[in-house]
Amino acid sequence: MAVREILLLGNPLLHRPCQPVGRDELAGLGGVVDDLRDTLLDFRRRHGCGRAIAAPQIGVMKRLIYWHSDPPWALVNPILENLSAETFALWDDCMSFPDLLVRVARHRTCTLRFTDLSGNEIVRQLADDSAELLQHECDHLDGILATQKAIDGRSFALRSERSQLTA
Ligand SMILES: [Zn+2]
Repeated sequence: MAVREILLLGNPLLHRPCQPVGRDELAGLGGVVDDLRDTLLDFRRRHGCGRAIAAPQIGVMKRLIYWHSDPPWALVNPILENLSAETFALWDDCMSFPDLLVRVARHRTCTLRFTDLSGNEIVRQLADDSAELLQHECDHLDGILATQKAIDGRSFALRSERSQLTA
């Protein structure tokens, strides 16, 4: 268990697609999941935000996400399906660029399918906050950052200017 260094915007690893987790690798994932949790909790203590973290953000190039929900989930090989035609815009943030906000559009609802650490396949319907969060996290596994999904050239803001932004 350890707090790992979070890769920051500009690190080329953040743009590299991740490899699927093999079934034979599941049993060995616990240490990485612990590190993801510890790193996220440390970030929350310092920044007061952070809902999930993708393995490539700590340099582990595997399709794995730790979601700090109740209960917390380790999502192995997550995929999103049934992305709604309806979208909504929001100011997104990321632990890999903690001082920057980016305005993006996300699907309002989707279906999340993943494997848990015991190898069970799990399906969840997501909407609103959880839907946009998992779209952000699954993008990380494809090497895509929110900066690449900016709605337009005015969709960037420093967090310190948040009070001046319109919803
Ligand atoms: Zn992120």
